[in-house]
Amino acid sequence: MLCGKILKDTFGYPEFRPGQLEVIEAVISGQDALILLPTGGGKSLCYQVPALAMDGLTLVVSPLISLMQDQVQQLSTQGVKAAYLNSSQDPEEAQKVNDALHEGELDLLYVAPERLLQSYFLNSLAKVKVSLIAIDEAHCVSHWGHDFRQDYRNLGRLKSVFIDTPFIALTATADHATQVDIQHQLGLVDPLVYKGGFDRPNIRYNLLAKYKGFDQVVTFVKQQDGAAGIVYCNSRAKVDDLTVRLQSAGIKCDAYHAGLDTGTREFVQTQFLKDDLQVVVATVAFGMGINKSNVRFVVHHDVPRSVESYYQETGRAGRDGMPAEALLLFDERDAARIKQWISTGTSADRFDIEMQKFEAMESFAEAQTCRRQVLLNYFSDYREEQCGNCDICLDPPKMFDGTTQAQQLLSCVLRLKQDTSVQYLIDVFRGKSIRRILDNQHNELSTYGLGKEQSDTYWHNLIQQLIHQGLLRIDMTMSGILRLNESARAVLKGDRTIQLAVPKLSIDTSKRNKAE
Ligand code: ADP
Ligand code: ZN
Repeated sequence: MLCGKILKDTFGYPEFRPGQLEVIEAVISGQDALILLPTGGGKSLCYQVPALAMDGLTLVVSPLISLMQDQVQQLSTQGVKAAYLNSSQDPEEAQKVNDALHEGELDLLYVAPERLLQSYFLNSLAKVKVSLIAIDEAHCVSHWGHDFRQDYRNLGRLKSVFIDTPFIALTATADHATQVDIQHQLGLVDPLVYKGGFDRPNIRYNLLAKYKGFDQVVTFVKQQDGAAGIVYCNSRAKVDDLTVRLQSAGIKCDAYHAGLDTGTREFVQTQFLKDDLQVVVATVAFGMGINKSNVRFVVHHDVPRSVESYYQETGRAGRDGMPAEALLLFDERDAARIKQWISTGTSADRFDIEMQKFEAMESFAEAQTCRRQVLLNYFSDYREEQCGNCDICLDPPKMFDGTTQAQQLLSCVLRLKQDTSVQYLIDVFRGKSIRRILDNQHNELSTYGLGKEQSDTYWHNLIQQLIHQGLLRIDMTMSGILRLNESARAVLKGDRTIQLAVPKLSIDTSKRNKAE
């Protein structure tokens, strides 16, 4: 009753979303809680309402300064006594907040984890009545999460300091291992675990085999009729280059990455929020805490390193519930490169986790079944039904007997002495008369020119499928050359037939989704 009144009077909403009241009542009664709800799911109210319903202070731990500022500003306009303490403040401002805190004038205080854990701060809290502790972005506490932070790991100490205070941990992305680990690391006692559906039915998931990725992005963005979107790349250099490409194609866009100064980044972000920019081309530095509801598409020019990241980044599209598109460009070479980075650039204790996470991402990209099913299964949100709103459902792969093409391609790899890149294989197979081929006399091979009737993109796609099927592999230790696997032998000898999917060369945007 009281909570319903707070919801109406303070936040202006007539009713709770599924799960919210259950969680709110649990924490008010003193129980710990763990909330797994997708971005935009309404997690904040799960601690904001209790903060107002209970006497004393609710501490909110958050890793993101911009998010704290947004929330405090919004709460203040709603007449809630909220403040934050973080490194962006000057000492005077911080002092004012501290005074208010000790006068008992605050309902909510947002703090960064490193601040909260400083002993002088913890000591000063001894005199304050802390009724609830909320840990936002709780996956940061876990090594199994995709965004582990040491400051978060130390939050495990809090439970021994605030023995009688309920804890509520919140996250948008947690696979099962992360969920169990959050509970363990934070020492949650018999928590109520609330897991909302992770489905974002208005987002349509699409995937294309990447070939000349910049061209594919330009084509796709032009199909969007000026709607707002984000294009993610995995390096600053690519962000800069692609921005120029899109600009010269007449798209109003700008770059965003950590190499730009704060002023520029803020400017780009503001322009985008105000709809003065159609597209932001960005590294993963862009997005956390950006609250723009009418993002209509998210493109990944490069495959992300985990399903969590992919879900979180695509989740920035369509927050308003209207139809939105996600497009992932996937290339086996990118995947091989990432695995190499993980092998060489990851500490021993992270290696297995990072590799496992990336392999899950890779199998998402390689799946030939409903993309939403694969995605939701990853978050243990099992679905029996196909979604009807992903590229696979809308335009199922058409299989054909590709034995002859497979034999021809594999035999071309063999004749090139397993010493060819994907592109060189295509060049020889299509019978191009380029200098290197002529110099190597590869124009005299029997497989030269066999594939001249089809495009580069077509053959690139079939080669990817042969890699997926385990007939070929990319050897990154040899700068990405193609190797035959043992299983190719049976195909070459004619003992085995191969089913291939007719390549999809672009996204058919005319098939819009059911939410329309
Ligand atoms: P999250 O933290 O899970 O990403 P938020 O807490 O920011 O999500 O909520 C997303 C949006 O949904 C906000 O605009 C919030 O005001 C709104 N919202 C949350 N709960 C309700 C509700 N019960 N009724 C209507 N809108 C709600
Ligand atoms: Zn589907």
